[in-house]
Amino acid sequence: MSLQDKVALVTGAASGIGEQCARRLASLGATVVIADLNLANAQRVAGSIVESGGKAIAVSMDVTSEEAVNAGIERTVKELGSIDVLVSNAGIQIVALVEAYAFADWKKMLAIHLDGAVLTTKAAIRHMYDSKGGGSIIYMGSVHSHEASKLKSAYVTAKHGLLGLARVVAKEGGPRGVRANVVCPGFVRTPLVKKQIPEQAKELGISEQDVVKNVMLKETVDGEFTTVEDVANTVAFLAGFESSALTGQSIIVSHGWAMK
Ligand code: NAD
Repeated sequence: MSLQDKVALVTGAASGIGEQCARRLASLGATVVIADLNLANAQRVAGSIVESGGKAIAVSMDVTSEEAVNAGIERTVKELGSIDVLVSNAGIQIVALVEAYAFADWKKMLAIHLDGAVLTTKAAIRHMYDSKGGGSIIYMGSVHSHEASKLKSAYVTAKHGLLGLARVVAKEGGPRGVRANVVCPGFVRTPLVKKQIPEQAKELGISEQDVVKNVMLKETVDGEFTTVEDVANTVAFLAGFESSALTGQSIIVSHGWAMK
């Protein structure tokens, strides 16, 4: 599979899953745009891709800001000529019981996960429609796009919401050459998850080891974390898929935690 001459923008690509997605897409020949709130880290990742022979630029982008999203995507198309792949991946986690979930935190979660997905889609899809090659939009969902867990009302709501958005974009985009899919990872040891382990231990009154073994990995077939490479390979597969046979789908990558 080659992504030669393609331009791929990955949000939240300065860390964790997004970073590995960007590295994988670059290794397949794409020019990647590392779009992140954290510009210093985005520049570090882009620099490291360039050092190893790939093509990358860093763009400062808060995905909750329509202005910042539009500016980042306009810059991408102006400097690189097109946007062929969008990986809407930026995300955070805030855990609390529903009755204690601060409304401001709820709004922040939905803004990053859902507003971010729709704003980047709106800005990118126009350019995909204009180009001969169409495009591929990949949303970073989660097993929580299909399952629920305690303490995660906003996250589960947002990740379920991405399935709806992807299906609508698949229907609207299909006749114009744009595919939309959702990748749904199980737990991956990134900064986002490392932060949650002590928080969940405290909320649930159990040890950190129990959080990993009996909460996070309990339902997997082998007690293993999913890796950033597992997720990035799935994203690359969807990015390079050559027909509209695969659109409007969600692919779960979770060591069998969820089977749909
Ligand atoms: P991470 O914390 O390692 O990286 C998230 C990145 O998003 C950071 O670089 C951060 O600066 C950036 N970001 C945060 N808010 C932003 C904003 N408003 N605008 C632009 N960038 C912003 O997290 P991760 O674990 O790599 O998570 C990436 C995505 O994968 C998220 O959508 C998350 O929900 C999803 N996911 C993660 C796991 C997991 O177990 N780690 C599992 C399933 C899904």
